[in-house]
Amino acid sequence: MKKKLLVVGAHSGDFVWRSAGTLAKSIEEGAETLVIAMSYGERGESGELWKEDPKRSVESVKAIRHEQASRAADLIGTPIRFLDWGDYPMLLSDERVSQLTEIIGDFEPTVILTHSEKDPFNPDHPLAFQAVERARLLSCGAGVPSAFKNIDPPMWYSFEPHQPEICGFKPDTFVDISTVFDKKMAAMSCMGAQSYLKDYYAELAARRANHARRISGKKDIKYAEAHQSQLPRITNSIF
Ligand SMILES: [Zn+2]
Repeated sequence: MKKKLLVVGAHSGDFVWRSAGTLAKSIEEGAETLVIAMSYGERGESGELWKEDPKRSVESVKAIRHEQASRAADLIGTPIRFLDWGDYPMLLSDERVSQLTEIIGDFEPTVILTHSEKDPFNPDHPLAFQAVERARLLSCGAGVPSAFKNIDPPMWYSFEPHQPEICGFKPDTFVDISTVFDKKMAAMSCMGAQSYLKDYYAELAARRANHARRISGKKDIKYAEAHQSQLPRITNSIF
């Protein structure tokens, strides 16, 4: 079966910190990928740009964020689409759910990766989760023939939030990103002056690799990204 990974982030930088390694690794394995940035994070997640020049316009911040995220996506090797829904607050309408449903229906992902259900530190991340949850269900129906086009139900994961414990994030899937970690570092470097986040996520990848090594005994895992599945995994064998 064709591997197709769809990553949906509320803000244009989210996919880089939380899933750049998984994206690059999937591409290395021959998967087709697509990143959706629901907004540029122009108001709430562009602190360095606003600190630099509080008088700059929202449009100029969006242009910079567009360029940064596009460059990061290029380095990883994935297409990216910007929906420009606005942030802080992001609002969800029937039209936006339909737009996302159409994107999922057209791309037909086999795996979707998005935010965690809870995030007490962020008003937009849980909304992105809700939008994806609804659009995914509308794209695949109830798993039976329906009155509309329905795709095979994609697997669905949450990527790791910034404060995992407080977000109720319980990782159950670790992706070994050792072979593509240089790409994640390069992609993180595109995201402006947020060097503190680059260091933070590099350390996190090393820490998750330590957990992955201890769970699996695979001693060559140097970097990993953690995700949480939202659905049971279906296999034809326990092995
Ligand atoms: Zn975000």
